[in-house]
Amino acid sequence: MLTSGKRALVCGAGGFIGHHLVRRLKQEGLWVRGVDLRYPRFSDTAADDFIIGDLRDQSVAGYVLDEYFDEIYQLAADMGGAGYIFTGYHDADVMHNSSSINLNVLHNACKHKNKRIFYSSSACIYPEFNQRDPNNPTCDEASAYPAAPDSEYGWEKLFSERLYLAYARNCEMDVRIARYHNIFGPEGSWNDGKEKAPAAICRKVAMAPDGGEVEIWGDGEQTRSFLYVEECIEGTLRLMRSSFTGPVNIGSDEMVTINQLVDMAAGIGGKSVRKRHVEGPTGVRGRNSDNRLVCAKLGWSPSTALVKGLRPTYEWIRAQVMRNVSANREVLEDPSVVSNVMSESRVV
Ligand code: NAD
Repeated sequence: MLTSGKRALVCGAGGFIGHHLVRRLKQEGLWVRGVDLRYPRFSDTAADDFIIGDLRDQSVAGYVLDEYFDEIYQLAADMGGAGYIFTGYHDADVMHNSSSINLNVLHNACKHKNKRIFYSSSACIYPEFNQRDPNNPTCDEASAYPAAPDSEYGWEKLFSERLYLAYARNCEMDVRIARYHNIFGPEGSWNDGKEKAPAAICRKVAMAPDGGEVEIWGDGEQTRSFLYVEECIEGTLRLMRSSFTGPVNIGSDEMVTINQLVDMAAGIGGKSVRKRHVEGPTGVRGRNSDNRLVCAKLGWSPSTALVKGLRPTYEWIRAQVMRNVSANREVLEDPSVVSNVMSESRVV
């Protein structure tokens, strides 16, 4: 067992990326405190100390940040997939909750002379007007201004990026900012209305019979890139331990259409599926990670092919679907009824 003697704090340790990050930090021998509103949903946390607490509350943030940490990772946020972010129903919550968390964490981190803090921003900060052509979206870091994100989630992220940079200037904090692009993998939201495209599509394919139908929001020609969670953690640690502040993209530059993503998931599942395009929130028309800056500054960029990450993700989601089906078996005897009931949850 490694023992680095270092202490890390992970805010949002009950969430998808935070849970994976805690596991990796433990493998590296750090002592880790996690904090979140909830424990991780699908497996036990590896954290040495896990505080259930609401970081919108100044006193909770003070309690959690009551001492020095060598590394602080701030991933706690009110977020979700397109069904959560782009419908407009959650705008006030998203802006209030996430900015309160960031204000409280920074204020208290600064008090205890904590220096090194990582902030998880998002590709959603990029201007909508640069992402209308699905084949040529512009997402290089400098293109963030003049600012015109297409969601309040993106505006909050942009505000918080600036907040972190202000603390770096005025409070001598050593800030690191990454703009994550669509992270996916096992143990993420898959059926709670906060799932993103890869999880939603894996679930739909897993639930569809061979030759069945899969519903897609929009015409499916919108483009995105998706980064496997292990690569996200690798990039996060490399940035944190580098001398580069950022903001910098951490994402894959393997751009695909949503239709292609469906074909990929169907191929992994060994099924042929028909796509049914329906109206729904789709976000910007095109988005891809521009990795020139991350390559130049960290000498690294993600290299795992989408299909390689999608395989374990599909298998994990298929297992969740099967588990739900068997849990419902007592009340729902007809498999087609099970399928209909489960189809009601929202998807991208
Ligand atoms: P997630 O929703 O799984 O994790 C966020 C965690 O924050 C949740 O466990 C939630 O309970 C916790 N949280 C929310 N409000 C809190 C509060 N008031 N106090 C304490 N904890 C609170 O999301 P994720 O996918 O793991 O994303 C982590 C970070 O990365 C977020 O800041 C997100 O905006 C950012 N990000 C993620 C992606 C992605 O594709 N997953 C893309 C861009 C940016």
